[in-house]
Amino acid sequence: MKPYSKLTKEELKKLKGQLEKQFEEVKAKGIHLDMSRGKPSKAQLDLSNGLMDVLNGDSDLVSSDGVDCRNYGVLDGITEARKLLADMSEVPERNILIYGNSSLNVMFDTVSRAMTHGIMGSTPWCKLDKVKFLCPVPGYDRHFAITEYFGIEMINVPLLPTGPDMDMVEKLVAEDPAIKGIWCVPKYSNPTGVSYSDETVRRFAHLKPAAKDFRIFWDNAYSIHHLYDDKRDVILELLNECVKAGNPDMVFKFISTSKVSFPGSGIAALAASRANIEDAKSFMKFQTIGHDKLNQLRHVRFFKDMPGMYEHMRKHAAILRPKFEKVEDVLEKEIGGLGIGTWTKPLGGYFISFDSMDGCAKAIVAKAKEAGLIMTGAGATFPYGKDPKDSNIRIAPSFPTVEELAQAAEIFVLSVKLVSVEKLLGAK
Ligand code: PMP
Repeated sequence: MKPYSKLTKEELKKLKGQLEKQFEEVKAKGIHLDMSRGKPSKAQLDLSNGLMDVLNGDSDLVSSDGVDCRNYGVLDGITEARKLLADMSEVPERNILIYGNSSLNVMFDTVSRAMTHGIMGSTPWCKLDKVKFLCPVPGYDRHFAITEYFGIEMINVPLLPTGPDMDMVEKLVAEDPAIKGIWCVPKYSNPTGVSYSDETVRRFAHLKPAAKDFRIFWDNAYSIHHLYDDKRDVILELLNECVKAGNPDMVFKFISTSKVSFPGSGIAALAASRANIEDAKSFMKFQTIGHDKLNQLRHVRFFKDMPGMYEHMRKHAAILRPKFEKVEDVLEKEIGGLGIGTWTKPLGGYFISFDSMDGCAKAIVAKAKEAGLIMTGAGATFPYGKDPKDSNIRIAPSFPTVEELAQAAEIFVLSVKLVSVEKLLGAK
């Protein structure tokens, strides 16, 4: 079929009639599918059930350096968990601080601490007239929700195939002392799957921000979440680059085992310079006497080391890969060459990012919902929920089964086609 934009008004009308009929047929199937969040499927969760067996009432619950993990204490996390998470974050152990079950929580705490107490002796952000964050777009809605919650002004920065537009980032941070941070998902970015190039990472490390308490919020949520064994993105490690560039304190790295073991019952950590870690601890010591050490012990006993984790991630990939490929196949087969959408083909992470014709995304998500498919709200991938072009849609293929995904993809492409035809007809 030729691109929709080349069709005459008559051809479009005829096509619209056919698509409406198909849509009614699909609707009549009474499908209910939720593809709104990037949740692991049950089969993926089952991979980690061994976590429930490695500790029991007969287990030795003492850590490698003699800490009884059932008791209070050890603010930084037990030694073997610090080692595992430091290796996962590719930093020395002295640069890691273990938190609780969620990296989003660590990010929230970090912004909250900067608001109320300031970073390393700087003025608390709440005392400033204006605080701004740079937000590469499209990006992760929950990042934007944190900064919006604290009244921080968000500035969109285009995310290019190499990472954020660094010309823009360099210029803005150098000019404006109100810019205190930037949200980054450097590997298999949510939702585009983009991984930052070495040049981008180096340019980050060499930033010259006007604000001395400017920090790069480096959320490496998908650091080991490859879909393929033979095709993998590798990114430069930023903390080390920052040290080399003479900017050791400029980065907060966040990581968790949420999509390695159990989301909600994993381990999260902050990786940063010693000065930043001490600053974070000076706050944390009022929050808790120590996080869940039994969970830390359980994770180390289950995974053992990074080779253990990599092996485990291969099992996740074996479940996820056919799902991504199913969605990509349907998209290619059904709308490839029609000029009504483009999409990403990531090598890892949890999402496919779809761009419709301008002004169609909201209508497509609404149309899909009519047929029983819940997707991430259009606009969610932008600060304040406002996609200036109304074109980006995040597709989250992880949770449904491959069979369900085939149905979901069918509903999605039909919705895209119908809304695009309507849009083109409206313009004729
Ligand atoms: N960061 C990103 C980029 C994510 O996509 C997600 C999960 N969707 C999180 C953080 C949440 O991580 P956690 O479960 O550790 O809070």
